[in-house]
Amino acid sequence: REAAATVLTALRAVADTVDRHAEELGRIDAVAGDGDHGIGMRRGSTAARRAAADALALGAGAGTLLTRAADAWADRAGGTSGALWGTVLRALGTALGDDDAPTAARVAAGVTEASAGVRRLGGAEVGDKTMVDVLVPFADTLAAAVTDGTPLTDAWDRAAHAAETAAAATAGLLPRKGRARPHAEKSLGTPDAGAHSLALITRAVHAVLR
Ligand code: ADP
Ligand code: MG
Ligand code: MG
Repeated sequence: REAAATVLTALRAVADTVDRHAEELGRIDAVAGDGDHGIGMRRGSTAARRAAADALALGAGAGTLLTRAADAWADRAGGTSGALWGTVLRALGTALGDDDAPTAARVAAGVTEASAGVRRLGGAEVGDKTMVDVLVPFADTLAAAVTDGTPLTDAWDRAAHAAETAAAATAGLLPRKGRARPHAEKSLGTPDAGAHSLALITRAVHAVLR
C-alpha cells in the first residue's frame, strides 16, 4: 500500500497547489475564456482528493485510488478541463494498477497514455494553446529520461521543468481550441490557463516524489 499512500499524498499536493493558485487561474482564464478555471480545478481536485482518501481507507491500491479520483474529478469539476483531467487520472490509474511498487517505466507509460488520451478526447494538438502544449513535452521528457535510466524523481524534475517552460511559451500562441478561441487575439501575451495549472501540478507532484 505504499504506492497508494504516495498517490493520496500527491493528490493532496495537487489540491493544495490548485487552491493556492485558484484566483490566478481564474484571472488568466478570464482574459479570453470564461474565468472559471480556478473554480473548476478547485472543485475537481478537492473531490479527487476526497475520493482517493475514501478508497485508501477501504484498503484499495494505487490504480483504484486514481480511477476513483478520476471519476470524482470529472463529475464535480464541470467544464472542459474537468473531463480532460478525468482522462489524465484514469490513464495513470490503468497504467499503475494496484501493485505495491510500480516501476518508473510504468509511471512514464501512464503519463504518455494520459497525453494520448487528452489529445483523443479534446482533439487539440501542440500549438493550439491548450494543456496539450504542456502535457506532450512533459510526457516526452519524462519518458526519455526514464528510458535513459534516470531515477524517477530526477526524471520528473526534468519533465516538470519542460512543462514550466512550455506553459510560459503558450503566452505567444493564439488559441485554436476551447472557449478562448473566439477572443483569440485578446489572449496574446497571456499563457493558457489549463497549460499553466498543469505545469503547477507537475511541480507540486515532484515535491511529493522527492
Ligand atoms: P471551460 O473552458 O469549459 O470553461 P476550464 O476553464 O476549466 O473549462 O478549462 C479551460 C482549459 O481547458 C483551457 O485553458 C485549455 O488548457 C483546456 N482546454 C480547452 N479545450 C481543450 C481541448 N479541446 N483540448 C485540450 N485542452 C483543452
Ligand atoms: Mg473556463
Ligand atoms: Mg467554463
